[in-house]
Amino acid sequence: MKSMLKAIVIAIFLVALLAFAFFTKAPISETGFTVYFIDVGQADSAVIVCDGHAMMIDGGNAADSDLVYTFLKKHNINHLDYMIGTHAHEDHIGGLPGALNYAKVDAAYCPVTTYNSKAFGNFVKYLAQQGVKITKPKPGDVISLGSASVKFLAPQKAYGEPNNTSIVVKITYGKTDFLFTGDAERESEADILAAGYNLRSTVLKVGHHASKTSTTYPFLREIMPKYAVVSVGRGNSYGHPDPDTMSRLRDAEVTVYRTDLHGDVTVTSDGNDVSFKTQKNAGPVPPRSDTKAQKTQESSSLAVESSYIGNANTKVFHRPKCSSVGQMNPKNRVALNSREDAIARSFKPCGRCKP
Ligand SMILES: [Zn+2]
Ligand SMILES: [Zn+2]
Repeated sequence: MKSMLKAIVIAIFLVALLAFAFFTKAPISETGFTVYFIDVGQADSAVIVCDGHAMMIDGGNAADSDLVYTFLKKHNINHLDYMIGTHAHEDHIGGLPGALNYAKVDAAYCPVTTYNSKAFGNFVKYLAQQGVKITKPKPGDVISLGSASVKFLAPQKAYGEPNNTSIVVKITYGKTDFLFTGDAERESEADILAAGYNLRSTVLKVGHHASKTSTTYPFLREIMPKYAVVSVGRGNSYGHPDPDTMSRLRDAEVTVYRTDLHGDVTVTSDGNDVSFKTQKNAGPVPPRSDTKAQKTQESSSLAVESSYIGNANTKVFHRPKCSSVGQMNPKNRVALNSREDAIARSFKPCGRCKP
């Protein structure tokens, strides 16, 4: 009789344990680092999750509120440590009320606290309902998201034009870095460069939907991204992404993902390297479409003759065996006799082959 009672108690305990495991929702992500670029058409929205902490950078247009709400619900993200509205334009802050309808936000950052639009008014109103006031970040400020750090790089000063007021952040997780540039254009890019930050990043969220006025060569050369994500709407009236900007990215040998082609883009980092998953099954846009055999042949013949190879467009120089040399457009290739020769001709060393 006693042993039967014991068995019943154990059985009840096991059932209770199972029920507890079943009904307790798993944390969003126990460890590791993930960036979700949400496909919000001609707009920007990203959610970053690290060690169970989450932040949101932009929320798409007002019409994307439902989409953003559903995304957070699906991923069980009901708490955001931070919310960043990069600038006051509707395609960045318009959908944030949708996120505020689902998630409790601890702190919100924006370059302005007032802006004359219905979308911005709603953003402020929904924040106020949670008792949150907008904080204007100072460049150089660092906040932490789990074991990742988030550094504010811009705006460096006040600008008349909203795009240049964009908050720019560099997020570092282990040896991987992610640069989010909002809609910052060349003026802000130049000021960020002048401030002398280390911009080197694994992944670049391309500025201003890859418009012509962003992603200048000097900026790109300092970032040296391996990958870039362009948030852009199919057939938009702005002509984004701009063909010249896309060709600058190709010349810099960057592998590009686009929300208009790939849908939602998810990047995970293990602290050493990143991997991409896309909603739609379009392959990444490779740096170059030239035939591989031709590239290899041309680069190897040049390799014999010169010590280093420069890229006339990006002004970066490489060791002849660097993978970037094979991907370089042959017309941009410059033979360099020595490291000194390269530096004297204002080439900068490649971050990958470190010549
Ligand atoms: Zn925009
Ligand atoms: Zn904008």
